[in-house]
Amino acid sequence: MKLAVLTSGGDSAGMNALVRAVVKTAILKGCETYVVREGYEGLVRGNNTQPSEKGTPPPKQHVTAEGSFVQNLRFGDGELLKDGTGDHPSGRTLKGRYIVRVGWDDVRGWFAAGGTLIGTARSTAFRTPEGRLTAAHNMIKEGIDALAICGGDGSLTGADVFRSEWPKLVEELRSQGKITEEQATKHAYLRIVGLVGSIDNDMSLTDLTIGAPTALHRICESIDNINSTAYSHSRAFVLEVMGRHCGWLALMAGVACGADFIFIPEDPPEAGKWEDQMCRMVQNHRDVGKRKTIVIVAEGAHDASLQPIRVDYVKDVLAERLGLDTRVTTLGHTQRGGRPCAIDRILPTLQGVEAVEALLEATPESPSYMIGISENKITRIPLMEAVEMTRQVAKAISEKDFKKAMSLRDPEFCETLEGFHTTAVLDKEPRAQNHLRMRVAIMHVGAPAGGMNAATRAAVRYCLRQGHKPFAIHNGFPGLLDDLVHQLSWLGVDNWMTRGGSELGTNRKLPDIDLGAVAAKFQQYNFHALMMIGGFEAFNSLLILDNARKLYPAFNIPIVHLPATISNNVPVTEYSLGSDTSLNALVDACDALKQSASASRNRVFVVETQGGKCGYIATMGALATGACIVYTPERGINLDMLRQDVKFMKKRYSLDQKGKAEGRLVLRNEVASDVYTTDFITKMLKEEGGSLFDSRSASLGHTLQGSIPSPMDRARGVRLALKCMAFIEHHHALLVKQPVKSRQAPAESAAVIAIQGSTVKWVPVQEMVEHADMKNRRGKNAWWDVHHDLVEALVARPQFLDKS
Ligand code: ATP
Repeated sequence: MKLAVLTSGGDSAGMNALVRAVVKTAILKGCETYVVREGYEGLVRGNNTQPSEKGTPPPKQHVTAEGSFVQNLRFGDGELLKDGTGDHPSGRTLKGRYIVRVGWDDVRGWFAAGGTLIGTARSTAFRTPEGRLTAAHNMIKEGIDALAICGGDGSLTGADVFRSEWPKLVEELRSQGKITEEQATKHAYLRIVGLVGSIDNDMSLTDLTIGAPTALHRICESIDNINSTAYSHSRAFVLEVMGRHCGWLALMAGVACGADFIFIPEDPPEAGKWEDQMCRMVQNHRDVGKRKTIVIVAEGAHDASLQPIRVDYVKDVLAERLGLDTRVTTLGHTQRGGRPCAIDRILPTLQGVEAVEALLEATPESPSYMIGISENKITRIPLMEAVEMTRQVAKAISEKDFKKAMSLRDPEFCETLEGFHTTAVLDKEPRAQNHLRMRVAIMHVGAPAGGMNAATRAAVRYCLRQGHKPFAIHNGFPGLLDDLVHQLSWLGVDNWMTRGGSELGTNRKLPDIDLGAVAAKFQQYNFHALMMIGGFEAFNSLLILDNARKLYPAFNIPIVHLPATISNNVPVTEYSLGSDTSLNALVDACDALKQSASASRNRVFVVETQGGKCGYIATMGALATGACIVYTPERGINLDMLRQDVKFMKKRYSLDQKGKAEGRLVLRNEVASDVYTTDFITKMLKEEGGSLFDSRSASLGHTLQGSIPSPMDRARGVRLALKCMAFIEHHHALLVKQPVKSRQAPAESAAVIAIQGSTVKWVPVQEMVEHADMKNRRGKNAWWDVHHDLVEALVARPQFLDKS
């Protein structure tokens, strides 16, 4: 099969990772693979093979080594595409060529680039039947009848129109004599697959669109920077972020940056009243001593009567009514640009693989699919169903049916909005009934992880809104024994969203250092509930406290564990706070290492990652950085593997382009083997690499804890912490019905909050034990381990080792 991939509509980070994955997977499946430059416009323009000023198109530069796979290694156009002009100092040019055959190495290093290297455009010609006829002709001339399209709802609709028209177009081309009978029969139907590239995250039936997480990163970076100047001058800032019909960016940024007020299209404020409401809220915050004000306005924000809400007007309201020194910042196109974050490398890679599978399986009868993600699983969704539903949101908004608009967004969107209100609104009247008000202890256990502070801030704000008293226990269980306990305030936690590390101070010691004394302290402080944020130690602590409930009545309170660890080794949950921050820190470090590794000569960097006995961070990191080899504790390391690894590396470097230095990465989890250490592997590769390649090692160590937590970790921290609080309230309400002296907390009131896909579950700690490998401190089900094989597939390890 001949297959082409194109990017269309607005660009978004992650499109290159997608093109890379489609190209590589298609080649692995034996397809001839093409990229189409400039979106649909490239299909319409096709390949003009007339000699250009700089000469005819270059001869195809096949590598002439053995086997069919290596013949597809390079056509040499990757550099031209990267260059962006289509010209090259060598005189080679892509001028007049829009449908370009690419090989395995032509998409090398595309991961780290923002935007789309193959270009994108909005094509008026493709909107016309004549334009589409020319596009079909150009494709058939090249023998292509399978197309992967990455773009927004417009681009995907265009793809669907093209596909349904295809038989008619083929017939027309045949009757006009532009194609032969044989060509008409061979290309009787078109296979398409859609992938959503959109920074707005505005497509229904998928949890994330390609580029939205990176855009959120850019926005949060800007707001984090603005925060410090706003604080210094005690200013208010009104920020406009992208999002015409979808407030996802504004909402997520509002939560992740601890904004004071947000405006999103799906949940508009009442016309003529929102000014008072906003000023009241901002004034409340100022009254308790807040020095800065951040208001976020989505580009498409309006009030409930559909009057647009403009940033300048919001600024005037804040300045005139509250006398605040107010500035406006429109983030504009900075939101689109830049290096893709970790999710925008992993997700498009997984989706690209699935897209090729879908194209290979497509039949004339099967629907056109869009590749999405739902519940952490890559999905195929009938394309037009998703587009239709997306349009319904815009329609509902235009008809002022905002309830419907919200109902068409996923549950996470609604919960995040609720989370924003809970953490931003400063109520004067507590909501919980007097007898249900609690003294809630919050503790960090284990190593620091990004998002711990955001989760704590949300829990504290929730408590205060309800009338509970939130207490910080500093330095874990030893801190409790040392009476390092103090009550937290609304303002005291205000700046915690952006802070890495642990504001409470964390400790690895478990409560069994002195269970009796711990129980006595619980009694002394009269805690009604405990929330522990941490990794495997927190899980272990929960287990110890639950087991001790019979002996120590003080533990008969609701106790929750919110998993937060960069190792992501807590059983059952697929995701722990901090693991996204950590992956981003890894990606940043590896990009820099790869750059250094290829700057002077061929060099392999053996990068050591943290993770304890869990290979999650190494494996996902390898997927996000395109590492060649990954070593994990689950799979271990042995001599046979190393022998194969050396063979692979030698073969790989021997087939590189001459005269061009290449850097490559090997990721090794810190405890993957006691014997074959990072140092050993580095020396081995150096020795065996001979004149082909050199090697160096780098240990990322504690840098993987990251500095500023990622927006995803912050937003998830808020969402999960609020769920923890609701859980605590629920169980407390049940417990207070029991007589104080004989109070017995049920097993389910000591639980871990676990994420499985987009669903959040409560798992009683005793049930968690069944899923835990207590000796190796990790879950029994390493769901991510399948990606190990994908890492190897995407570097064509079996092919280079001639095992295909
Ligand atoms: P973004 O979300 O960034 O706007 P988009 O894919 O929705 O991305 P559009 O400008 O709507 O962007 O569409 C991109 C291109 O897709 C158009 O320029 C056009 O070539 C093609 N296209 C869109 N809608 C159709 C259609 N109904 N029929 C044929 N082609 C279409």
